[in-house]
Amino acid sequence: MTEEIMELANYIDGEFQPSKCEHWIDDFAPASGSLIGKIPCSDHTDVDAAVEAASNALESWSALSIEERADWLDKIADALEGRRENLAELESLDTGKPISIARNVDATRCVSNFRFFAEQARAFESETFEMTDASNRVLYKPLGVVGLITPWNLPLYLLSWKVAPALAMGNTIVAKPSELTPMTASLLAEIIDEVGLPKGVFNLIHGNGKDAGSPLTTHPKVAAISFTGGTATGRIVAAAASSEFKKLSLELGGKNATIIRNDVDIKPIMPNVIRASFLNQGQVCLCGSRILIHEDIYDSFIEEFLEGVTAMQIGDPSDEDTDLGSLISPEHRDKVLSYIDLATQEGGVVLCGGGPPADIPNTFSKGNWVAPTVIDGLSPDSRCATEEIFGPVVTLHPFSNDDEAIDIANSTEYGLAGSIWTKDIDVANSMAERIHSGMIWINCWLHRDLRVPFGGVKNSGVGREGGKWSLNFFSEPMNICVKHD
Ligand code: NDP
Repeated sequence: MTEEIMELANYIDGEFQPSKCEHWIDDFAPASGSLIGKIPCSDHTDVDAAVEAASNALESWSALSIEERADWLDKIADALEGRRENLAELESLDTGKPISIARNVDATRCVSNFRFFAEQARAFESETFEMTDASNRVLYKPLGVVGLITPWNLPLYLLSWKVAPALAMGNTIVAKPSELTPMTASLLAEIIDEVGLPKGVFNLIHGNGKDAGSPLTTHPKVAAISFTGGTATGRIVAAAASSEFKKLSLELGGKNATIIRNDVDIKPIMPNVIRASFLNQGQVCLCGSRILIHEDIYDSFIEEFLEGVTAMQIGDPSDEDTDLGSLISPEHRDKVLSYIDLATQEGGVVLCGGGPPADIPNTFSKGNWVAPTVIDGLSPDSRCATEEIFGPVVTLHPFSNDDEAIDIANSTEYGLAGSIWTKDIDVANSMAERIHSGMIWINCWLHRDLRVPFGGVKNSGVGREGGKWSLNFFSEPMNICVKHD
């Protein structure tokens, strides 16, 4: 496979430009290990220039009506849609995920994020509150320049989820995508340039967290930080941003439980349980990495589950039939493998996977591969069953009644999501209410309505994204009270 080496630039004040410090970071294709690009290793001087451009653009951008800004979102959505296949190919190359996922999940959602927030913005209404002797009018003003920091697992999907509402509410942007997956953020900058969004409204800084992300979180002219990433980084970002009293949204890690009650028919739910376990090689914050199974059906569940998991096709991400691609980096693969080692030390039994897949073609021998791995026999409070592994690894745990399932589900520091599989919707609803988490799906998983609140509790984050929650985050309410004569 020959891959062209792309040199990416920052996008500041409507211009593509190299980093002022002239250092570069290599970008590798995770599936093959090949060098595919170079990005600027930006530092605080680049961040300063981007924030300055965003500050200068703020007055005229925020002066547009919300409908005019919604029209810009639709223009971006149209242009993204026109480049959908290009977007999917770049995302698959840069992340190692299967092309079918890049096309049907990533590329599709990027377009719908812009369209959705255009619609939401048009429907957005300021409130009024009448008193007997006065009227209150609540305005939603832009925050100003906002910093958007995003991870590598769903690169443009998650960036567009922040860019669209931030623009809709009249803010200007400095975005810092993960250094591991810069390609589609650059594609977005190209598209924004092509559609002619006023210069300085959207700025893109490439680079690593320490040199480029950190100065963004502390910059005095940045009013808010919307961050999606790991819990440990979220802590650093929160500490940095809080001294400047910046508004902060944190979407962090998860260790989600998939609860299987004993009244289910196992066969029909299996494709969804497998999808919840391994979508994107398990590198989705919502993945059900702990499966809690009623003891009555434990053995039959495992048999059916292993049959489905071992039938998944792992390999060439560009092959339409591939189910699982590679992990994002050698470091991440090693972290995932070290958890599998730890699992055996903790008394776990590896039922399938446990290392690189057996038959990866030579072209991909330098990629970051781990076969889907299922581990039985671990205590629910072992490290492997409570810490976020963020890879194709699930642990299985039996339970004897609903209370025990809820206790296990709640026994981690995370509280992002989960799913319950049962025929008894009343029981499922009351179980869901007792789980400490931001989101629970019943008889489905990752079934998204973009209007509903998305986010976690405990160490999974602070705040909510989605629908009006995103529009509220990216705006500051102001009340004007007029006393009647
Ligand atoms: P990281 O926390 O490592 O990185 C996230 C982003 O933060 C990257 O752009 C990174 O830059 C940047 N960053 C790193 N250090 C700093 C810093 N000191 N200041 C500012 N920015 C910094 O997460 P990953 O990229 O490894 O993503 C995986 C994690 O994201 C998982 O824990 C997953 O659960 C979580 N996640 C949560 C979601 C949710 O909605 N709750 C959704 C998706 C993922 P760089 O990497 O270039 O150094």
